[in-house]
Amino acid sequence: MAIRTIVEYPAPVLLSPGEPVVNFDAELKALTEDMFETMYDDGGVGLAAQQIGLPLRLFVIDCAGLKLVAANPEIISTEGEQDGEEGCLSVGKVHGNLKRPERAVLRAQDVSGKYFEREASGLAARCFLHETDHCDGILFIRHLSPLRRDMVLRKFRKLQER
Ligand SMILES: [Zn+2]
Repeated sequence: MAIRTIVEYPAPVLLSPGEPVVNFDAELKALTEDMFETMYDDGGVGLAAQQIGLPLRLFVIDCAGLKLVAANPEIISTEGEQDGEEGCLSVGKVHGNLKRPERAVLRAQDVSGKYFEREASGLAARCFLHETDHCDGILFIRHLSPLRRDMVLRKFRKLQER
């Protein structure tokens, strides 16, 4: 296993949709192990392949007791609304307040290619939505109002200057 380098905004790989995962082999399993290790090392609860520079529709999460690998993820339904802080390892963990659905149902393939559906609420639902967005080339800052987005990016640039 190895810790990979986290790619930060505004790297182009973060801003374009990933390619579908087609090979469910030992290489993919090793990649997801690296992704978990990289995520834990940086104190995250979710990590998408694009955040280590790979344009793939793949993420891992370990959030609120829910640990899984999701390849080719889709959010098939959402319900309700939650308000809370959200941050991203690719945006220096600077937080912004963002409304998300309270519940979300994820459909994806596991590391062996088997399809599954999983429902989550609260923080885990927020994770599903945030990481599936990554696979579509969308960062959480895109959902913020222009004013809030500027605030987050200003803080992020200050951190980068250090
Ligand atoms: Zn993120």
